[in-house]
Amino acid sequence: MSTPKNQKPKKGFKFNAYILYGVLLLVLLVFLFVPENKGKKIDWSQAKVMLQKQHVDKMVLHNDRFANIFLKKGAKDDNSYKGKIKKSQSLMATETPDFSFEFEKDFLNLELQKLQKEMQKGQSSYELPIIFDSSTSMFGGFMGTLLMMGIIFFIISLVMRRMGGGAGGGAGGPNIFNIGRSKAQLFDQDKKVKVTFKDVAGLEEAKTEVMEVVDFLQNPKKYTNLGGKIPKGVLLVGPPGTGKTLLAKAVAGEAAVPFFSLSGSDFVEMFVGVGASRVRDLFKQAKEKAPCIIFIDEIDAVGRARGKNLAQGGNDERENTLNQLLSEMDGFGTDSGIILMAATNRPDVLDSALLRPGRFDRQIGVDRPDIKGREHIFKVHLKPLKKLSKDVDSKKLAAQTPGFAGAEIANVCNEAALIAARGNKEKVEMEDFQNAIDRVIGGLEKKNKIISPEEKKIVAYHEAGHAVAGWYLEHADPLLKVSIVPRGLAALGYAQYLPKEQYLYRTEQLQDSMCMTLGGRAAEQIFFKKISTGAQNDLERITKLSYNMIIMYGMNSKVGQVSFNDPTGEYGYHRPYSEKTAELIDNEVRAMIDEAYQRTIDLLTDKKSEVEAVAKELLEKEIIFKDDIERLIGKREYDEVEVIEEVEAEEVSVVEELAVAENEVEVEKEIEPIAENSESDESSETSTEENTEDTED
Ligand code: ADP
Repeated sequence: MSTPKNQKPKKGFKFNAYILYGVLLLVLLVFLFVPENKGKKIDWSQAKVMLQKQHVDKMVLHNDRFANIFLKKGAKDDNSYKGKIKKSQSLMATETPDFSFEFEKDFLNLELQKLQKEMQKGQSSYELPIIFDSSTSMFGGFMGTLLMMGIIFFIISLVMRRMGGGAGGGAGGPNIFNIGRSKAQLFDQDKKVKVTFKDVAGLEEAKTEVMEVVDFLQNPKKYTNLGGKIPKGVLLVGPPGTGKTLLAKAVAGEAAVPFFSLSGSDFVEMFVGVGASRVRDLFKQAKEKAPCIIFIDEIDAVGRARGKNLAQGGNDERENTLNQLLSEMDGFGTDSGIILMAATNRPDVLDSALLRPGRFDRQIGVDRPDIKGREHIFKVHLKPLKKLSKDVDSKKLAAQTPGFAGAEIANVCNEAALIAARGNKEKVEMEDFQNAIDRVIGGLEKKNKIISPEEKKIVAYHEAGHAVAGWYLEHADPLLKVSIVPRGLAALGYAQYLPKEQYLYRTEQLQDSMCMTLGGRAAEQIFFKKISTGAQNDLERITKLSYNMIIMYGMNSKVGQVSFNDPTGEYGYHRPYSEKTAELIDNEVRAMIDEAYQRTIDLLTDKKSEVEAVAKELLEKEIIFKDDIERLIGKREYDEVEVIEEVEAEEVSVVEELAVAENEVEVEKEIEPIAENSESDESSETSTEENTEDTED
């Protein structure tokens, strides 16, 4: 990323640190190669004669290397020196030696001693006019210092540059003064945003809302004439990969105004004050370019609620950055032509000051697409695929990808093309799309993952346990398919469901979903009389669910109608209940899970032959669909609607099974969507991170 200034270079001279380094180096070189202050070159025997004749005013020995001879004034007229002494003297040097010679230290020492004695024979007090000088040259010391300074300066600037721009990809060249500059990427006439609303499929409501923003920018008068105020900020809220960035880009593309794009984390730096300075710089640049749009992706990186939890210690630097952002937003008038757009998937953690009217007055929800939306998104992303087989149907694809976000659909299309290419196919076929969908859900198929037949059997019975338990539970989600093809890092199999779209869950529904999740372990227990680690992921989920049922939703009669939900972190690290209540909660969780497990065991013992039939089919085919199960064990009583054809269901729920404890790819949509926003700060944070991983997988 480079600063906008760099993208639009001014003609003529532009300050550049490289020029500075160049000049420094040149100066050093000049000093290095400046000729030393020397006279005409002679040898020792000639110098000796001069000393014997007492013509020498002084002889300076430099560093045991060479000697300069300065003649007495009167002696210069001597005939023997005619034509040998330069008349004009150097302007720089105050004193130019008349002769110079090089010597070898020990040799000269001996010679001088001999000469001294010889001279003293005639003139006992005579001292040879010899001066010792240990500095190399008049520039020697100065140059050394300069060189050191140069090196230190170079190292400091290198380090600063790394810190300033390294993470973000080099902020505006190697200038150390750029650290406080905004890292926003600018798209304007030179670097156009080519995205338009046509590229954004689905999201009709969101598009209508943001189209108004485009209108604000193009015809502000229309609104201000009537006394209305143009909104300053628009917050796009939604899960990752649903097209928030794309939508903001489309706004810029349609409005044909400059578009500054950056991420919330671009403000964050280890130096105090840098974040705030970057915010100031961003708004300064934006004012110069108004009307324009500033887009801050992942605004929660800076916009998190300030100092709520003193026990955790405030992050002063982040708070300063946020304060600066708030004051800048107050600072620009509604008629300044700057509209701030921001995206987040966690509006719950944002500081309330940021969300109040006058700042981000508008919040636009960008949700996962429904079946129609997915069909449109498929159409958009199928277009760039050049050779498509005729059987590829975006409608069918949309039906098979419930819960997918736009980014995942884009990924499916790309994967399908890659899979087809790997198979050396001429065209991308429907089969490739199917494989791509499986891959996006569960990760790469591990054809050569060595699984012993015994393990394979466990996986099959485990998955069959889930499928059959769900089949006979009234409130369980309808099944889509079951697979025991090993995928990804750790998943050995999975079952995919189509949950109904609902926002409220009754106790019985949650209990049924708990039993279905326990179906895997129960089947292992019933058929093998042994249990395996494969249920780890299931157990984790039901533990979370049962705790939530008791301490969040007040669904336990003994604990009562209480909710200790704390999304704003007000309780800090302190539990709002006593040790005794904690113990009660723990006991009730255990009781609830034990009860559900017993119920599942009873159910599956009753349906043992059905589980066996499904498991055998799975071992044979590896992937089975709802139709196969219907054929084996009869129609499901509770499927009032033909879900697969109907596919109006929004979300997908994939229960990943038999996964080794770590590195789990949890694709399952949380069973309690209301819990997503209401979980405590920390736990909701981790769940969002997991979700992000899923979509990126
Ligand atoms: P977000 O900002 O919500 O995390 P992005 O806007 O970066 O998601 O979306 C990532 C990619 O997913 C886009 O570049 C685009 O290819 C694809 N995508 C997401 N939503 C849509 C959509 N509604 N229509 C077309 N493509 C989409």
